[in-house]
Amino acid sequence: MAFDFDLFVIGAGSGGVRAARFAAGFGARVAVAESRYLGGTCVNVGCVPKKLLVYGAHVADELEQARGFGWSVESVQFDWPTLIANKTREIQRLNGIYRNLLVSSGVTLLEGHARILGAHEVEVNGQSYSAEHILVAVGGWPQVPEIPGRELAITSNEAFYLEQLPKRVLVVGGGYIAVEFASIFHGLGAQTTLLYRGERFLRGFDEAVRTHLEEELRKKGLDLQFSSDIAAIERQANGSLLATLRDGRVLEADCVFYATGRRPMLDNLGLENAGVALDERGFIQVDDEYRSNVPSILAIGDVIGRVQLTPVALAEGMAVARRLYRPAEYRPVDYALIPTAVFSLPNIATVGLTEQQALEQGYRVQVFESRFRAMKLTLTDCQERTLMKLVVDADTDRVLGCHMVGPEAGEIIQGLAVALKAGATKEVFDETLGIHPSAAEEFVTMRTPASR
Ligand code: FAD
Ligand code: NDP
Repeated sequence: MAFDFDLFVIGAGSGGVRAARFAAGFGARVAVAESRYLGGTCVNVGCVPKKLLVYGAHVADELEQARGFGWSVESVQFDWPTLIANKTREIQRLNGIYRNLLVSSGVTLLEGHARILGAHEVEVNGQSYSAEHILVAVGGWPQVPEIPGRELAITSNEAFYLEQLPKRVLVVGGGYIAVEFASIFHGLGAQTTLLYRGERFLRGFDEAVRTHLEEELRKKGLDLQFSSDIAAIERQANGSLLATLRDGRVLEADCVFYATGRRPMLDNLGLENAGVALDERGFIQVDDEYRSNVPSILAIGDVIGRVQLTPVALAEGMAVARRLYRPAEYRPVDYALIPTAVFSLPNIATVGLTEQQALEQGYRVQVFESRFRAMKLTLTDCQERTLMKLVVDADTDRVLGCHMVGPEAGEIIQGLAVALKAGATKEVFDETLGIHPSAAEEFVTMRTPASR
């Protein structure tokens, strides 16, 4: 049967654009449908605008520290609408770049909502298209729990377009987005409270990292309230919001921001028309080569709910393009040792196993840990401390995990991820000369294991 396209990609986000461009480059006839914004979550309401706002918030720290270096910065002011307008202009520039990337690689771009009609058929703007393969790369969407007044809350989607910086913000959640946005709001001057339902935020990160970040954020004046959750939200006559907590306490705020995870974006996608199966959490179920139970329908990225990070979606998109159209170059995605950063202020970054995971997996673990006040701060009043931690297999000397809380943690851990991927031992770390004076050199000068 002759199809209109070899590959029909639904969603021009991180994974979809990568798969579409490379498949077209390998000679396939490719269409991509996008209903909302080119570049997807990461470019429009995710990684990129988030990092720009984090940079904005970090300026407050720099200004605070400037005095110690002799600068007078007495009458500084912050203007949220300027930051948002500049951010939005940059995102529009990136949207244009994504359009050019797709068009110049020969991909047919269809702007509109795509709905699957069958195993080989998709409809966009009332027109149906046939394709040998359909790749679902529709990403995710914020999930707000069903509580009375949930419609009064905002999520990351809206936060990027707020007209004014709220004076008082309640951030709900204890994952990446909650911690990053709490740092953004607090850094830019909003009175910020983070409410997390469990005992301590960032479940799954190394315990030392979680406690260290908790201490640093509290020192900066961020109000962290653990074992706290909102039961209901209502609007008062004066316009502000009242949040009633499950323990009966009542908090007043101008903005309630939910970051309680993301669901797969399956709305009106028509998966049922082809009988595509979901897993027990509601994400599209795929095999190791991203095939759903319907062999012609594949899925990658956030919608499969494995690791919700842009570099992972990119790698999955690349793997699909190669497997279909350059099988000789196909390599499965390696999900081990994925480095990741939380762009809180200070940053967290990590690669490999936490101490707890290493112990659970039966390793005899040696831990090296260093906490210090960065040299840059010695001329300032800032008491922020950096944490660096190595988790080592005592039997083979292999470094199993590197963890950091501190300035530029993401930039530092990216390089160490290469070392871990290459199987570096602690001895290799020890033999590596430092860059002096830097914070990063601490990772190659930790000699004494922490006693446990
Ligand atoms: P997406 O990028 O979400 O793309 C899906 C696209 O499909 C969207 O453009 C959507 O409009 C479109 N679509 C959906 N349904 C349809 C349909 N039926 N028809 C047509 N089009 C459709 N990751 C990092 O690695 N680093 C970070 O710093 C980071 N920060 C983040 C900050 C925030 C606030 C958020 C929300 C996420 C962040 N992420 C970060 C995660 C990252 O954005 C995602 O993992 C990544 O975008 C997933 O890519 P994807 O291709 O699966 O989906
Ligand atoms: P996460 O899954 O990281 O965190 C969700 C948080 O919400 C958890 O603390 C969870 O608590 C809590 N939660 C879940 N359900 C409820 C509920 N019903 N009531 C109260 N609290 C609840 O999701 P995010 O939304 O923060 O981010 C989504 C994903 O996007 C991340 O996991 C990450 O993969 C990606 N991302 C990556 C970034 C980066 O790379 N820097 C930045 C932002 C996002 P509990 O722990 O108890 O389950």
